[in-house]
Amino acid sequence: MDKRITKAQPDSQDNASFDLAIIGGRVIDPANGVDGVRSIGIKNGKIAAVSEGNLPASKTIDATGLVVSPGFLDIHSHTDGLQHAGVCNVRMGVTTVVTGNCGYTFAPEGLDVEAFFERLDQGYPVNTAFLVGASDIRKAVGADPYKPIPDQDIPKMIKLAEKALQAGAMGMSFGIEYSPGTTQKELIAMGEFARTVGIICPVHIRASGGGLPFIKTSSIQAIDEILRVARKTKARFHISHIGGQIAMASRPYDAMTKKGLEMIEQAMDEGLDIQSDMHSYTAWGTWISAALLDLFLKPQPMPWIIQHGFFLNLGMVEVGTGPHQGKRLTQDLLRQIRKEDPKTIVVGHMFREDLLFQVLTKPWVMMCSDGDFDVHTGAPSHPRCSGAFPRVLQLVRERNLMPLEEALRKMTVMPAERFGLKTKGRLSVGADADITVFDPQKIADKATYQNPDIAPEGIEYVLIGGEAAVFEGELLSVNLGKPIRFN
Ligand SMILES: [Zn+2]
Repeated sequence: MDKRITKAQPDSQDNASFDLAIIGGRVIDPANGVDGVRSIGIKNGKIAAVSEGNLPASKTIDATGLVVSPGFLDIHSHTDGLQHAGVCNVRMGVTTVVTGNCGYTFAPEGLDVEAFFERLDQGYPVNTAFLVGASDIRKAVGADPYKPIPDQDIPKMIKLAEKALQAGAMGMSFGIEYSPGTTQKELIAMGEFARTVGIICPVHIRASGGGLPFIKTSSIQAIDEILRVARKTKARFHISHIGGQIAMASRPYDAMTKKGLEMIEQAMDEGLDIQSDMHSYTAWGTWISAALLDLFLKPQPMPWIIQHGFFLNLGMVEVGTGPHQGKRLTQDLLRQIRKEDPKTIVVGHMFREDLLFQVLTKPWVMMCSDGDFDVHTGAPSHPRCSGAFPRVLQLVRERNLMPLEEALRKMTVMPAERFGLKTKGRLSVGADADITVFDPQKIADKATYQNPDIAPEGIEYVLIGGEAAVFEGELLSVNLGKPIRFN
């Protein structure tokens, strides 16, 4: 029998009050300020005891030398129920994802949330909550993504949103940059609806970068737009992957990063309920037909060429999935792949690490992966899909990015509270036994842009509902996750 798991002695079996105990590990539970060696007793899928003493259990995991953390939450996920995407998540210590971000889903069920959850009821690698996408809703009522929606169609959008929420969606996501026809009026109407039903609304804002004179939309204007809507409607907007919007790698962006962060902090000071999330990689990813890539095909004014042509250009974008994987985009290849397979994922190497780190260390920015997957195979397109959370813990160890407890807070209780997941992200008695045990000396992201499907090192155990999905560093089970219905 393996040394890390031992059966209880026969004479103690009568006293085995727990199904499983994790003993000897350094328990870090940012929700309760716990940081020390504790035993955790698990019964019926819940945490039943946290103790400085030993706990009698039928099975024991010896976590000596390891950190015992609440399972990580990836609240900005694009797994969309793809099986292998879920595998990538659980391998990196994620136990719960919130998917359907940026206004859309790639799940085949689309707006049929009931069918989506019924499929996941059959077993999925991680627990999954779902956001209904405003761009998907727009499309369902016949709107052109590039054009404003007629007034009379807004109530139809609200009806579809209501239906998705009744079926258990947690909130509504917006992807304004993907549906540039979205108007302030539409956002206010949807925001007012969101406030009345009390849901969270993650938003991919209208622009990433920009900002020189004469450039129409910059991320500063885009942040201003959503803050205006938030002030007016008092809806709970959440700015998605903020570093992706304001940490671009060219000259004017130092000022943009600073300004963007200041604007959000000022809104928080005013009392707006607004926060954000981000990953730690210097590349973004999206699907090749996304409207934001249109600008690389159109003739542009001189200031745009100065800014984008010299600093941010198509050569920085590589193909992340499919037969052209690894190739750098040209205008011709962009047009060609848009025809061949419009859901191909591309990866743009455009962020500056120091600006990104300014974003990540803000106390109101939580961690996420934002990883996109091949919609046909579930294959990851970017190392963040397989290593986003281990990479942050590696940055904590190697580059002192932030204290370990703060990094774990941003992966556990902070996203859980923000997204209303009351039994997740903490190790208190009664919480779901979703637990990630890792080796703080070893934990490392091993995925690369060339091969984003490599599992990280140092994730030793992942429990979902008290059962082992990862055991002694090996993937053991891929069907322990449950759908999380919000109704
Ligand atoms: Zn997005």
